[in-house]
Amino acid sequence: MTSHSIAVIVRDVFAHMSIVERFSLATIGASAVLLALFERIIPYTKGQRFLREGFFDDFALYTIAQNYVLSIVIFSIIIARLDTIGGLSRFQVLAQWPLWLQVTLFVVTHDFYIYWMHRWQHRNRFMWRLHEAHHSPTSVDWLSGSRSHCLEILINQTVEFAPIVLLGASPDVIPLKGAISAVWGMYIHANLNVRTGPLQWVINGPEMHRWHHSMGKGMRSNFSTKLAIWDWMFGTAYFPPGQRASAYGMRTWFPKHYLGQTLYAFRRFRWHDRSRALPTGNLGLQSDDASAVRP
Ligand SMILES: [Zn+2]
Ligand SMILES: [Zn+2]
Repeated sequence: MTSHSIAVIVRDVFAHMSIVERFSLATIGASAVLLALFERIIPYTKGQRFLREGFFDDFALYTIAQNYVLSIVIFSIIIARLDTIGGLSRFQVLAQWPLWLQVTLFVVTHDFYIYWMHRWQHRNRFMWRLHEAHHSPTSVDWLSGSRSHCLEILINQTVEFAPIVLLGASPDVIPLKGAISAVWGMYIHANLNVRTGPLQWVINGPEMHRWHHSMGKGMRSNFSTKLAIWDWMFGTAYFPPGQRASAYGMRTWFPKHYLGQTLYAFRRFRWHDRSRALPTGNLGLQSDDASAVRP
């Protein structure tokens, strides 16, 4: 494929987009550039490389290819089928609400769902299989959060976007909500030494989420994605003063590339996994999971 034909495809994609969709995509792109730039200026973990291990897989395969295919499956097949069966969207339940209120409603409710889903994924060995890929990067940066198993994305984004369609929200909510999720996701993983002070009680950021990706105690905490209030409310916040998260990733072996990481979720459960794979040795947990650490 020549650069000319790539340019034609990109132009065609843009030609079919609404103004809000273009704005959302441009916001995601600009945020990625800015976050990557600020990682060079104020890094949380010094010495992390831009082109680190797994960069190609995370960018080309998880971010571009997987998201493209899954967006077709989620919107054109699953949500379209759900709407055909129930016909719910014709009631236009939220159509009269102002756009900002619709967006706020879906951001907050989905974030609450993701908090509990995330906790469950760390408690249940079957659910952990869909989440461990996300914990596998040893360098946590603006891009690494995109590494999520296709089934995890399939479940979470169906739950994220189906209510928007079925409740008859404005079509603009989808790209706006998508951009908020993408930018916030890049931000909480970014290798940035930000100090948000009291804002960290509300707005989740790298200060707390990097602890969740460390191999130590913090991995059992900080399940929030956008709003940190869930962790503070439900007793799972871990934010030790004056300390820095480090040693990211998992103690167990994990495939290095996309295909292996995707298929590895379907490996057999083995009895000896119980004792072999606790991330920080015996933490005094009675885990029924090979790799998960209970909150
Ligand atoms: Zn996690
Ligand atoms: Zn993460």
